[in-house]
Amino acid sequence: MSGERGLDHPLRPAAEADLDRLIPHIERLSGLWSHWRGVVLVRDVAYPFSGQKHGWCGISLREDVLLDATLRWRTMIHEGLHSVSGAFSPGRPDPMSRRWEEAIVEQMQRLLRQRVLRAAGVEMDDEVFLSADNEHGYNLFIRALEAHRRRQGAEIEAFYLGLLRADAAGRAGMLVAATRALRVQRWQELL
Ligand SMILES: [Zn+2]
Repeated sequence: MSGERGLDHPLRPAAEADLDRLIPHIERLSGLWSHWRGVVLVRDVAYPFSGQKHGWCGISLREDVLLDATLRWRTMIHEGLHSVSGAFSPGRPDPMSRRWEEAIVEQMQRLLRQRVLRAAGVEMDDEVFLSADNEHGYNLFIRALEAHRRRQGAEIEAFYLGLLRADAAGRAGMLVAATRALRVQRWQELL
């Protein structure tokens, strides 16, 4: 069982140590506190997600992801950003809020990863991350956010940090126009 082996998995100590190394830089660069409690559960390949931040503030990472340097670092930063997100819900948020959370955190991961990694002493050429970026499941939502941001003329990092920092109600207000942009984006991609 992936859940039961998670705590005594041989990859766990190094995964916790690496995440622990990244979190202070994620906090510094985002200006937000992490709710991560220092626990990583390592899941087997049957686990449906590369990583997952839990409501109890632990983080699950899948073993095949931990064994691939590119996926390991991008997933750790992504999950670390969920742990500072002001709107992350420990319960079951509605599917739309959850998708926006994924898009905001994923875009923030792309914006901050080089600075987080360099500060933690990890050298990774950004090129190696691009294929995972291009295949990411929430790119449609990221494109809708980008369309909305460009229309507002907002600076990219300030825009996503604002969304990351906002609580659920504040974020919902900020996303009204992005939801319209999402509808347009869907139409354009169908044509
Ligand atoms: Zn996520």
